[in-house]
Amino acid sequence: MRKWIQPLRFLVQACFMAGLIIPWLAHSEPVAKGLFWTVLVVGVFFCGWVCPFGAVQDWLAWIARKIHLPRFQIPWKYQRFLQLSRYIWAGLITFAGVHYAFLSARFYFNDNLFHNMLTWTSGLTLATFLIIGLFVDRPFCNYFCMKGAMDGLMSIIRPISIKRDNKLCIHCHLCDRICPMNVRVEHTNFVRHPNCINCMKCVGVCPKKCLSLRLMQLRERK
Ligand code: SF4
Ligand code: SF4
Ligand code: SF4
Repeated sequence: MRKWIQPLRFLVQACFMAGLIIPWLAHSEPVAKGLFWTVLVVGVFFCGWVCPFGAVQDWLAWIARKIHLPRFQIPWKYQRFLQLSRYIWAGLITFAGVHYAFLSARFYFNDNLFHNMLTWTSGLTLATFLIIGLFVDRPFCNYFCMKGAMDGLMSIIRPISIKRDNKLCIHCHLCDRICPMNVRVEHTNFVRHPNCINCMKCVGVCPKKCLSLRLMQLRERK
């Protein structure tokens, strides 16, 4: 087990959470540009390591597990369709001018919570997602976030990602079960799914150490 990964990720998330209060960290131009280019090369590290609203959902899930609340993972036969919802929302917002308060929960949290611009509707939607997050991993990221959807789509060209060594894999399903974004890690040799947020939980949980961050090779087709 690579136990150091998740404490390190928590530390980075906490720094960027502090960035909500120290704006130069979260909103500085070099940081924003750097994060954009990482999407194209190594995937959506922003979502897994930086985004404060993503961090809050992670921390709620951690608390929920500690106090033994029931957790639900949507079965794949439904998830395969449900995971399209964030692209549908993104399409409706971009092309049909649709705007619902709940679609902006990330924006309200990351950008406005500490600037005193929270309205009762945005507060209500934030609270709703946070409550759902006590029972389901990253509900907003999985099904509603337009930024996550767009960055995820860009990330599918990344040449560096998580490689699974099929020779070592014992098909224990642990990587599939722990993934907060419902990526079917066990069914792929090279993870470039747009849902992957590079949280590295699958890498940390694998008992055979057969998952690692690697440069893609030509023979890896999936
Ligand atoms: S999917 Fe959206 S809310 Fe979730 S971590 Fe990424 S940007 Fe933040
Ligand atoms: S956790 Fe590791 S050994 Fe288990 S299914 Fe996933 S890749 Fe294979
Ligand atoms: S595939 Fe692994 S790194 Fe990607 S979101 Fe799932 S658990 Fe995290």
